[in-house]
Amino acid sequence: MFRVVIKRPDESDKHVRVDKKSFDVLVWAREYKSSHPSHKLFIVNVSHPKPPPLGFYPDRAKQLYWCPYCAHIRQFKRRWRKYTERKVLGCIICGASAELFFIQKYNQLFKSDGLVKEKELRRRLRKDKE
Ligand SMILES: [Zn+2]
Repeated sequence: MFRVVIKRPDESDKHVRVDKKSFDVLVWAREYKSSHPSHKLFIVNVSHPKPPPLGFYPDRAKQLYWCPYCAHIRQFKRRWRKYTERKVLGCIICGASAELFFIQKYNQLFKSDGLVKEKELRRRLRKDKE
């Protein structure tokens, strides 16, 4: 399932659900673009989160993270969310929340990351001794 995020020239945006195969979404987007040349289109793959390129590391100071749904490095901003009733960090284009599993995974945001690294280091130390 795809979502096309349309940014209008006045900065307002519209999210359109497009239940099509990836090629057809591109065709759909091209048609839309030809009748609305001043609108910016972003295709978001909702059902298949994509991993970042090898060696990617998020820039937390600039709030640049990998968005697996946009398949792009995006700026994340804190926005008020109705369903959580508080501000949550999310992708400025598709709105995906930084609390989602794949965003945490691909941006090393898990709180337990330190623990995993520590375990891995200990395992390597043990191997070296053998
Ligand atoms: Zn996104």
